[in-house]
Amino acid sequence: MNIQRLFPLVLLLVVGLFAACGDSDSGTTSTPKGGGAVTTPTATATFPADSTMAAIVKKGKITIGVKYDVPLFGLLDPVTKKVDGFDVAIGKEIAKALGLKEEQIEFVEAISANRIPYLQEDKVDLIISTMTINAERKTQIEFSRPYYLAGQSILVKNDNTTIKTVDDLNGKKVCSVQGSTSENNIKAKAPRADLTSFTTYSACVSAMKDGRVEAVSTDDIILAGFASKDQSLKLVGGTFTTEAYGIGMKKGKTDLAKFVDGVLNAMMQDGRWEKLYTQFPGTAPGLPPASDAKAKVPASA
Ligand code: GLU
Repeated sequence: MNIQRLFPLVLLLVVGLFAACGDSDSGTTSTPKGGGAVTTPTATATFPADSTMAAIVKKGKITIGVKYDVPLFGLLDPVTKKVDGFDVAIGKEIAKALGLKEEQIEFVEAISANRIPYLQEDKVDLIISTMTINAERKTQIEFSRPYYLAGQSILVKNDNTTIKTVDDLNGKKVCSVQGSTSENNIKAKAPRADLTSFTTYSACVSAMKDGRVEAVSTDDIILAGFASKDQSLKLVGGTFTTEAYGIGMKKGKTDLAKFVDGVLNAMMQDGRWEKLYTQFPGTAPGLPPASDAKAKVPASA
């Protein structure tokens, strides 16, 4: 056989060999071996070849939907273009448990109304976006165990003296967000409120600052995040619902839900949860210490 005709084939083999070495070094690829299991590059975790986890590891990337405008949970830094917060940090822990590096995480913005469609359309692998676990949503997606307990409250301007409780929202201009439990709770608990629903909470806060609405209502910790950055705002009315946050996954991906539960349970046992709480939600004024906040998180919802 003509050796020259073989040359491209040899070149391909050599390049392929180098590429394979490179991959195992950079930790992006894993090849099913023997029993078909997929081992992550750091060999910290082995997943059945047909599992959702193995598919993510093989893809070499995890896509996570988070908020981009919610202080303390998911907030985009306009300068660094990096998103940070409690939800983002939990996403990083899950990626690490899969054996992925931080560069292998793609964070995308998931506003409240997009969270379920993004999972259904495979636009994201996980939703970690201040999302309350409830029965209706459970029919559409899988949820992890709860990882944070919030409750709905009210944000007004410091000089507001007329809104003190959820009842006081009746007859007032109130802002909340489309596709949120907060929007539905206002309809149920203050049915005569003049409700405006925007796509984001930051848009609601801007509307209140402009005087277009008198109050913003959603989870206390979201409102506390806005109040901690703006001295002209205050929380009133205590909490009038319970909102247990869970991580959302596509319906049927029960293996991934079990894996994520394992990561969350470990984080709650080994001190990582407390560390992240202290770094993010725990910095808001009036929040309980980490041990008390953790004790409030229910084991299931
Ligand atoms: N936790 C509530 C929800 O999942 C309100 C916060 C939000 O919209 O992200 O709908």
